[in-house]
Amino acid sequence: MHYVIPAWDLPALAVAGSDARFPVRRIFCVGRNYVEHQKEMGGDGREQPFFFTKSAHDIVPGGGEIRYPLKTENYHWETELVAVLGSGGLRITVEEANDHVWGYAVGLDMTRRDLQQWGKDHGRPWSFGKDFDQAAPIGPVTPAARIGHPAKGRIWLEVNGETRQDADIAMMIWSIPEQIAFLSQYYTLAAGDIIMTGTPAGVGKAKPGDRLVAGIDGLGTLEAKILPPL
Ligand code: MN
Repeated sequence: MHYVIPAWDLPALAVAGSDARFPVRRIFCVGRNYVEHQKEMGGDGREQPFFFTKSAHDIVPGGGEIRYPLKTENYHWETELVAVLGSGGLRITVEEANDHVWGYAVGLDMTRRDLQQWGKDHGRPWSFGKDFDQAAPIGPVTPAARIGHPAKGRIWLEVNGETRQDADIAMMIWSIPEQIAFLSQYYTLAAGDIIMTGTPAGVGKAKPGDRLVAGIDGLGTLEAKILPPL
């Protein structure tokens, strides 16, 4: 293939225990998928979750140093289990959904909360709040072929050594199979699509110099060190 401008590399995640990488196509994210997080965001804990998207180019494979983003004064962490799809389809059932999941990783749905809130207040899109440079640090993918399909296990975040998020993925309102079934009613899902499955309570404001360490049982940890803004 010839392109009229130089093409870029496919965004791709590391794979635990392998030199091969997992190419990322689209990023779907679930909002308000844990009751206690709904409450801390001002909800009553009885809302239906929903989806938004990020660009595949927002990923920061393996984390590491990330830059405090532009035009925000309220930059938040959200620790999330990430499910990556090895195949897809339309109108996938809950029962067959796990057959499409290739593996799992720890991710951070980094958020410019002030810009997201502006969007909410003005009936405008969330894109500037959620989809920006380096908005999705994601650790190595552990294959489902190795660990199965985790439905419970601790999910946590330490900021500068202090625990800020501490919950269990069993507390998700919509399970991963339910998320896949729901999404596939609206999109033809495909290999390479990934889902950030929502954050538990304990979101908060990151600042330059902070060191974030996120973890999920069985999936290892993901570190992000926040650099000063440009
Ligand atoms: Mn999130």
